[in-house]
Amino acid sequence: MKPTQKKSHSAEREFGGTLGATCIPVFLPLTVLYLLCVCRSPAASVLQWPPLLPPASQLWDPLALLLILGWVVFQSFLYLLPMGKVSEGLVLRDGSRLKYPINGFSALCISAGLFAVLLWLGMPLGSLFELMLPLAVCAIGVSFLLSLYLYIRSFWASAPALALGGNTGNPLYDFFMGRELNPRIGVFDLKYFCELRPGLIGWVVVNLGMLMKEVELRDSPSLAMILVNIFQLLYVADALWNEEAVLTTMDIVHDGFGFMLAFGDLAWVPFVYSLQAAFLVIHPQTLTPLKATAIVALNGVGYFIFRRSNSQKNQFRRDPTHPSVAKLETIATATGKRLLVSGWWGLVRHPNYLGDLLMALAWSLPCGFSHLLPYFYVVYFTILLIHREARDERQCRAKYGLAWDTYCRRVPFRIFPYIY
Ligand code: NDP
Repeated sequence: MKPTQKKSHSAEREFGGTLGATCIPVFLPLTVLYLLCVCRSPAASVLQWPPLLPPASQLWDPLALLLILGWVVFQSFLYLLPMGKVSEGLVLRDGSRLKYPINGFSALCISAGLFAVLLWLGMPLGSLFELMLPLAVCAIGVSFLLSLYLYIRSFWASAPALALGGNTGNPLYDFFMGRELNPRIGVFDLKYFCELRPGLIGWVVVNLGMLMKEVELRDSPSLAMILVNIFQLLYVADALWNEEAVLTTMDIVHDGFGFMLAFGDLAWVPFVYSLQAAFLVIHPQTLTPLKATAIVALNGVGYFIFRRSNSQKNQFRRDPTHPSVAKLETIATATGKRLLVSGWWGLVRHPNYLGDLLMALAWSLPCGFSHLLPYFYVVYFTILLIHREARDERQCRAKYGLAWDTYCRRVPFRIFPYIY
């Protein structure tokens, strides 16, 4: 097939337009490496001046490349195994619907079984701690190469297969946002695979590696490390258990697959989201039972809000007549879809973000208050979700017009009740 020549170019620019799309791919990978360096330094100070630079000799290790490639191949193999059900995504602009395997939770369980065997065989999983920098370098390299491949192949995609937002004609911006909506090699959906598999399950593996390093150094894992591992495992397991819900998210439905998602999924999630566990290896913390109980309670409340609100909306979108949502108050929109204005979605316009942020705080608290670094995730995630809320708001206003304004009047707060 010939490369497609003429496309209807999208005009809207997000993430700071061309400037953002040029700076972010440079700035964020450097941030990952910087945070990893700071994390393992005794002072662990993010405000240290001059900033810590990783020694070049610690950036590359062929074993790291082998591990990253092996991990992606292993997860691809699990993705392709005919286990679990197959679901259809939302209707695309050309009227078709793509099919997706729902076997992410099985992939997590099989991966867990594999690591149980490897640990039993005496594999030094704690060595991941020493390999963090070269592993991150390789993951960043893979996400750049993947984004380049995605950008080039998108010129062979048909017009309806392009994302509305990543098709401006500006190469830097389109490389960053992603031109093609659902790039596939045969039945293998590259975006859907990256969204929930190698990086997300990889995050749990990195955490486990940090726990095993603590065992090497101090004979047993600390309560703080155990809590961080359990909380984040619960989060990942929940995402994979509810894998079908990802099919209706902005990432799958709206965003093209480019550097933003590829880097986020493959490098940022496994190496930045695991910072608390990496921090605890060098900076052990003692938690009293009372503090631990309070942190567990905070994570529990956050998870409750996050899960119940996400499930309520998903149930409502799948079947508005289901008894669990049928009695909720709704408003009509011109598209035929209704918006919930009571229940969780009547409390704030993004109750799921509120729950997510409470959990983020609970993941940092086991690291104590002596350093800012473990709170990087909470600060970053608050910014991400406030920005994401604004993007979603723009899309919903475009979709629902006056009905969305009515919803905003009925539910004035976005994420934090009575605050924002
Ligand atoms: P949401 O699940 O918040 O979905 C937003 C969509 O829900 C809107 O576009 C609209 O779509 C629908 N909607 C909004 N308001 C209503 C309403 N009142 N009634 C009915 N439908 C409504 O999207 P996200 O993808 O942003 O988030 C999904 C989850 O993923 C969240 O829990 C979030 O916290 C989490 N997340 C985690 C990240 C991480 O790195 N850990 C990153 C990003 C998200 P429509 O009307 O078309 O159905």
